[in-house]
Amino acid sequence: MAEPHGDTPAETEFPEVELAKSAIFLDFDGTLIDLADTPDGVDVPADLAGLLKGLNDATEGRLVVVTGRPIEAVDTFLGGYDGHVIGSHGAEERFEGNHTAHELAGSDTVARLGDMVEAFAATHEGLVPERKPTGVVLHFRQVPEQEPQVYSFLSALEQSHEGFELHHSKMAYELRPIGISKDDSIKRIMENERFAGRRPIFFGDDVTDEPALAWIAHQPDGIAAKVGSGETAANYRVHDPSGVRKILAGWIGE
Ligand SMILES: [Mg+2]
Repeated sequence: MAEPHGDTPAETEFPEVELAKSAIFLDFDGTLIDLADTPDGVDVPADLAGLLKGLNDATEGRLVVVTGRPIEAVDTFLGGYDGHVIGSHGAEERFEGNHTAHELAGSDTVARLGDMVEAFAATHEGLVPERKPTGVVLHFRQVPEQEPQVYSFLSALEQSHEGFELHHSKMAYELRPIGISKDDSIKRIMENERFAGRRPIFFGDDVTDEPALAWIAHQPDGIAAKVGSGETAANYRVHDPSGVRKILAGWIGE
């Protein structure tokens, strides 16, 4: 197993992987597809859903897409992929065909937060709000100089809405219910009898992926792959989403 490393640009060599003995967790934005200026502006390769289906078959149903997006959005981008999804950072889940969601999903509070963030964005050019079933995101990718205003506005909402907490991700801040995280969801799924004892593999690009990357890097034979540059607890690294897709396609012999 490779040693966890810091901010090295070098792409690391991946070990042989036996998919029938592995469980694969994949972040979506910035990992499987390139980031875009707006959440809707992403370019999804036409063969991505087929690639995921192939991986799901080869792992005997142990592929999980782990994303901050709502599951509904994943289905829009990946028509034809009907496997497991951890959505909204873990506030929603589709597992073995069953859809579950956090108790705050679709609540009046979430709707009100969405309204307030949209109103704020309407008076600040370049900010892009994104409603989620369990929270709301405010993207400042197009106007990075507005980060302080975005932060102070959402901090105020965090303080006035009990049960929600503020998270920083790439060029965005997000309000979501306390106690939700990708790593908690991944750990729970790894305890499922179908997953337990398999080699855990996770590809992620963002700070919100780091806790899961750190956990998987320390599992026996775990493969935690950081996508892109930057400090990481991962034990492998890939330069960009096209590199990730190439590795995954190689694993299923394409
Ligand atoms: Mg990502």
